[in-house]
Amino acid sequence: MNKPVATITRTKQIMKDHHLSFKKSLGQNFLIDVNVLEKIVSKAGVDEDSVVIEIGPGIGALTEQLAKKAKRVYAFEIDQRLEKVLEETMQPYDNVEIIFEDILKVDLEKFFKENIDASERVQIVANLPYYITTAILMKLLMERLPIHSYTVMMQKEVAARMAASPNTKDYGSLSIAIQYYTKSSVLMTVPKTCFMPQPNVDSSILHLEQRAEPAVKTKNDDLFFELVKASFGQRRKTLKNNLQRAFSDRLSKEDLAEVFQGSGIEPSRRGESLTLEEFAQLADASEEIIR
Ligand code: SAM
Repeated sequence: MNKPVATITRTKQIMKDHHLSFKKSLGQNFLIDVNVLEKIVSKAGVDEDSVVIEIGPGIGALTEQLAKKAKRVYAFEIDQRLEKVLEETMQPYDNVEIIFEDILKVDLEKFFKENIDASERVQIVANLPYYITTAILMKLLMERLPIHSYTVMMQKEVAARMAASPNTKDYGSLSIAIQYYTKSSVLMTVPKTCFMPQPNVDSSILHLEQRAEPAVKTKNDDLFFELVKASFGQRRKTLKNNLQRAFSDRLSKEDLAEVFQGSGIEPSRRGESLTLEEFAQLADASEEIIR
């Protein structure tokens, strides 16, 4: 019986047998630690009822561990060179389907309609390609697909920003975008030594539970996100300064004073101190005034 894919010897052997090199441009840092993988799968809560979607199976290190526990696994991989490898490493499992497509271009609504029953629990579990971590998560979240949870590995710093609370150095528009759609928590840190080739930075596993409804209700989502982005335009500046600058063509000084008064938010505060609820108050107070 073969050793798990996620070992130094087997990973090296597979790459050699298939005359493959790691593609840095595709974020190919493969996991070589089975203990880490088993933890990801168990912390994600994958069981025989789970339909798992993996992004970037690589040579199958995580896919193999998922296949052992899940009902079905769908894995999207952009790199066609890996077709033969995955055929070989996934050969013992009949519950895995590899789809060679760029996850950012897939029509996921169609994919769900064709492959997943409404009663099934869908979980995303992945060691994400680092260069597009945020783009992938925002695509999946904004499409509001019936996804139960996300358990995803990414650069430690990015995970910290996604899960950050107000009044911390990591809190910003990314924290708000992620927390608007999900409840987020960092599960564990994974040292760079667990990957081949070794990246320059450590990683974290982030767990996101999709909310049934966004964390806050606003009259206008687009305006909410526009205000959030503007409020962090220059981090050290006050809300008043940042908003005045960003909305100079749509808001007079008097209008802005009215927005602050209507929202009950002090203009001298900084964006980093506002909760999602307070940003929603600001957005709703602006709704009638910013057009
Ligand atoms: N899951 C494997 C593991 O843990 O060892 C590989 C993870 S590696 C960090 C990221 C994988 O994502 C690579 O296999 C890479 O080819 C793939 N990838 C990169 N960009 C992608 C995209 N746009 N769509 C799908 N897969 C992508």
